[in-house]
Amino acid sequence: MAAIERAADQEENVQGSGAISTIVIIIAMQTEALPLVNTFQLTEDPDSPFPKGVPWVRYHGTYKGLEINIIWPGKDSLLGVDSVGTISASLVTYSSIQALRPDLIINAGTAGGFKAKGASIADVYLASEVAFHDRRIPIPVFDQYGVGARKTFSTPNLVREINLKIGKLSTGDSLDMSPHDEASIMANEAVIKDMEGAAVAYVASLFSVPTIFLKAVTDIIDGDKPTAEEFLENLAAVTAALDQAVSQVVDFFPGRSLSEL
Ligand code: SAH
Repeated sequence: MAAIERAADQEENVQGSGAISTIVIIIAMQTEALPLVNTFQLTEDPDSPFPKGVPWVRYHGTYKGLEINIIWPGKDSLLGVDSVGTISASLVTYSSIQALRPDLIINAGTAGGFKAKGASIADVYLASEVAFHDRRIPIPVFDQYGVGARKTFSTPNLVREINLKIGKLSTGDSLDMSPHDEASIMANEAVIKDMEGAAVAYVASLFSVPTIFLKAVTDIIDGDKPTAEEFLENLAAVTAALDQAVSQVVDFFPGRSLSEL
């Protein structure tokens, strides 16, 4: 495409009237990412756009005319486990925006859910708001900065079309929940809890990239089972529900602009 057309396209997308073309899907765990890599028939990019030495992986390809990129922060280079949590999520979000200039970001993954607020195993939620629950700074205004509450990109037409639960998401760097975290999560009015969402939202907001959060419930936080055990027990089955929801959302994009979502 000629540079001038590309500039015009980007201009249109900033205003939300151009058709969506490039999507970045940020996924923390390989088990969550691989089914979608298959669904969209993506391939791993051998010439990663990321700096040399980082474990971050880009899978990409064209699907129904869309440029799809799944970005997985990869395995920790020392310990070999998935690089979950806010630090890796922030870094890959920043680097993906710089390298790929997406029209839209999807942060897809698993989450714990509160049954008292209506969540069940394998429900897929579209987050209406995100906030942090482990950044307590009890000084005026810094307290709000720590919580970092943000409304997510509004997609009324998508919500009408696809049957997803809607709820607030709270993010912190621990899988378990301390009493302090619990109090903050309640103050955030969250239905679901993860380890990446609010971090992705923060970085995307720096660059005004609209972002959607799709989170499938692997464990019930206010249930009787230990979180880590329940998480592992349900991960594979719940990932299938996540895969289906992400596909439905992506299938809604071709030919639509951001303002039509
Ligand atoms: N025990 C897991 C560790 C994964 S950490 C393993 O062996 O691989 C949990 C991941 O799932 C994070 O990416 C997080 O976003 C999400 N998650 C699922 N349930 C969660 C919960 N109850 N609290 C926080 N994050 C949760």
